[in-house]
Amino acid sequence: MMSKIQSADQRYFEYLSQNVFEIPKCGECGKFHFFPRVLCPFCGSENLQWTAPTGFATVYSTTTVRRQEGDYNVSLIELEEGPRLMSRVEGIDPDEVRIGLKVRTHILQREDGPMLVFVKRENIEH
Ligand SMILES: [Zn+2]
Repeated sequence: MMSKIQSADQRYFEYLSQNVFEIPKCGECGKFHFFPRVLCPFCGSENLQWTAPTGFATVYSTTTVRRQEGDYNVSLIELEEGPRLMSRVEGIDPDEVRIGLKVRTHILQREDGPMLVFVKRENIEH
């Protein structure tokens, strides 16, 4: 059951667990933001509408983290709608993740909860 009193991040993860990625879009200035807040960080409006982004994004910066268990990357990803978020690119070698790489969202359902990651966009896509 979803409670009516729900914080922005509860709402975000609730939907993510149902494979729905939505972020708040401001009804006043039209800007998207992430991580979800109660007020628009750009104009302070409470008039926020949860909206599904296209899911298309670009790697803004990336770091490969070296671990004995295997390397992985931590990337700052810029959504087509503007917000940037820390995540990682899955499915390719961490060293192949480059600034400017075209990616799209992918939701992992893990035991400890859903997680938004990104995968390389195929040439046939957008
Ligand atoms: Zn706004």
